Amino acid sequence: MTDTIFGKIIRREIPADIVYEDDLTLAFKDVSPQAPTHILVIPKKPIPRLSEASPEDAALMGHLLMTVKKIAEQVKLSNGYRVVINNGVDARQSVDHLHLHILGDRTMNWPPG
Ligand code: AMP
Repeated sequence: MTDTIFGKIIRREIPADIVYEDDLTLAFKDVSPQAPTHILVIPKKPIPRLSEASPEDAALMGHLLMTVKKIAEQVKLSNGYRVVINNGVDARQSVDHLHLHILGDRTMNWPPG
């Protein structure tokens, strides 16, 4: 598969404001924040998007969600937060490496734009 800017962040080829790392995941601040707190959580495995995850990725998908919970506690989003996955063209996914957005420290709107 083709490399992405997130692959370069994983390999430390370009800088990022990293807030969490473990064997399977990396989390860093979004460079264009859409909320006072906006963090991206990515698997180190280069899965392009959720719709291309395979059954063998099930444990990793669970780990990503538990990592979101851990980071939300770490950065004290005690009043709530939104978790977003943009998948594919209609969702306007712009980086082809699966990522979970954590948005917090403001009240969100619904429906989303
Ligand atoms: P999406 O539109 O769901 O694909 O989200 C991609 C996100 O990656 C956007 O919110 C961008 O602001 C963010 N982004 C792109 N390049 C970088 C970067 N080098 N460091 C941090 N965030 C980035």
